[in-house]
Amino acid sequence: MTKAKDAGNTGSSGISPQTHKDTPVQFIKGVGPARARLLDKLGISTIEDLLYHFPRRYEDRRRLKKISDLKFGEQETTSGRVESASTITTRRRRMKIFEVTVSDESGLLVCRWYNQPYLSRYMKEGSEVVLNGTVKGGLAAVGFEMDNPDFELIGAEEKFIHTSRIVPVYGATEGIRPKQLRNLIFSAVETQVGLIQDHMPEDILERNGLRSLKWSVKEAHFPEEISDMDELSRGLSPAHRRLIFDEFFLLELGLALTKMRGTREKGISFNTDGEFVNKFMQGLPFELTGAQKRVIGDISSDMSKPLSMNRLVHGDVGCGKTVVALSSMLSAVDSGYQACLMAPTELLAEQHFLNIHNVTDALGIKTVLLTSGTKKDVNEDVADGAAQIVIGTHALIQESVEFRSLGLAVIDEQHRFGVVQRASLRRKGENPDILIMTATPIPRTLALTLYGDLDISVIDELPSGRRPIATRILFSSQKDEVYSIIDRELLKGRQVYIVYPLIEESEKVDLRSAIEGAEALKRMMPDRRIELVHGKVGRDERESIMQRFKEGKVDILVATTVIEVGIDVPNASLMLIVHAERFGLAQLHQLRGRTGRGDYESYCILLAYHPFSDDAKMRLKAMELTVDGFRIAEEDLAIRGAGEFFGTRQSGIPDLKIADIIRDIKILEAARREAFALADADPELKGNPLLKEALDRKWKEKIELVKS
Ligand code: ADP
Ligand code: MG
Repeated sequence: MTKAKDAGNTGSSGISPQTHKDTPVQFIKGVGPARARLLDKLGISTIEDLLYHFPRRYEDRRRLKKISDLKFGEQETTSGRVESASTITTRRRRMKIFEVTVSDESGLLVCRWYNQPYLSRYMKEGSEVVLNGTVKGGLAAVGFEMDNPDFELIGAEEKFIHTSRIVPVYGATEGIRPKQLRNLIFSAVETQVGLIQDHMPEDILERNGLRSLKWSVKEAHFPEEISDMDELSRGLSPAHRRLIFDEFFLLELGLALTKMRGTREKGISFNTDGEFVNKFMQGLPFELTGAQKRVIGDISSDMSKPLSMNRLVHGDVGCGKTVVALSSMLSAVDSGYQACLMAPTELLAEQHFLNIHNVTDALGIKTVLLTSGTKKDVNEDVADGAAQIVIGTHALIQESVEFRSLGLAVIDEQHRFGVVQRASLRRKGENPDILIMTATPIPRTLALTLYGDLDISVIDELPSGRRPIATRILFSSQKDEVYSIIDRELLKGRQVYIVYPLIEESEKVDLRSAIEGAEALKRMMPDRRIELVHGKVGRDERESIMQRFKEGKVDILVATTVIEVGIDVPNASLMLIVHAERFGLAQLHQLRGRTGRGDYESYCILLAYHPFSDDAKMRLKAMELTVDGFRIAEEDLAIRGAGEFFGTRQSGIPDLKIADIIRDIKILEAARREAFALADADPELKGNPLLKEALDRKWKEKIELVKS
């Protein structure tokens, strides 16, 4: 039996394997309270954090060169004997310089360290040292020099950490020298890696050709078994692959378990062929697109089953998601339940409310608007069931909001909501069905991951008759042209949006430029009806402006980005985006999608101001080239990289530290397959207690994954 051996104490530290992960970094030799605070800035507070603080890159310092072979300007590793060592204090700035001269059989090398006088304690005449640094100078006469090289003494008992090996380079922080951080991590790896218990089932490791966790953590920091330096530099060595697999696997397992719990849970069986929904469908002023019909079919089939629905509807701006949402809500009402729709902004909630209550009033259904500003009697209507449809913002998930019988919750434009909010909304009823609408188009595998706990339907067709929105980049020097295009559209009887950027950091300045812009325009076009909306405009006024814009009583709507999503005014044919270089690609696409909703030729002008970055230029070019949301999303991914694109923090799924969702897509797919298979075979993770623990740690309190 190997048990006795395993049970033995794994290290001299004497801490138990179960707790070493949470052990504060101060436990590591060389970390006192001050250094612990500095490490905290790097997000490192426990030993586990330290072990998972992986190198940014590696330097190959295995090959020692003769001093005479050193190349000027290169970073080189060499070794020799200290011939002389002295500390000089400069007169003017009172700087202490420690200087040594090192020799080997081929030549001399002078090294200097600034303000580290304590080094004289280590390096004395006769010491043998290995040095790594950039070779300074250029004139042969001056000889070879290095400033602040990394060094290690030969013959001392310690192992080589900074030289004579492949050396990890970490993202450091102020107050901790790279070398000190490397020392700390070396010591953590030496003393703690042995305590790591592998949470990954053996068969999964085997099937995927993965090494053990212990080995991988050690090798990712201090590589020894390296066959391919290039693979290592790209962060794709066998050690990295195991760690990347781990991140994806835990992510996917969390999603798999959430999804299983959802589909296994009892839900409401709705009547999807009731009076309201049928009347609504018959009254539609247009024929549904094939894609809309198909998606409504998916939803009806989910809703009629006695299980709870978790469905994502994915479709580009303008594809007609609102009709789909409304028909589902009407099925809930037909079956005697309440339905709610949660929007990301007040303005959008108001817009949905205006649109929807027009329809529902005619059917004799009571619809209310619930935002942070609404009065108490609305809450009462929601609580006693008088309100059958509730449109709102985040305010819907506040504690004070109670539903009598919430049957369906729709979340619009969910890219701003996360898994956590979804869960809070679900708790407002007894397993209500959940429907999420999003216009963020992403490639399929990525969708499966980001929304891995949901079923997905795609509306991949725009209503017929839509014409592509002609998009042009114009510069601030071409403003006359901009005005004449505005004029031209207004003369045709169309309406115009003008959007200004507004970001928190420069809110005041931004707001002023929007206000000044609107005023300048009023002076230029005194006969036109021009209105301005932004976050500081009171709600009543905002509602009245939007209503009048809808009714065609306002010609030009000047706004900050509050109109980004959801606004639907088919007569508006021109979107002018001021300072377009400051907007993100997804945002530009959303804004442009406010036009082209009617039968008219529509236009989008991206008004750009110099100077702007290369990224900004690529974004504007991408907008000019295509109106296809999927292609835009791909461009966006390429420009921004995966991390930012997904905003994992916002979406509520755990952060990926080492994996890259685009680069490592193959590993992601493998991890996803394994995770879903395991979730199926052992949904309570009874046979995998270590894995359950790792999973809980990774997802923290984000959601309660496995009901115990
Ligand atoms: P989004 O998917 O961006 O939320 P909306 O639901 O706001 O799109 O729909 C955009 C516009 O298209 C609305 O004016 C809506 O009435 C209209 N619309 C939706 N479906 C159709 C259809 N099948 N045929 C014609 N117009 C449609
Ligand atoms: Mg919408």
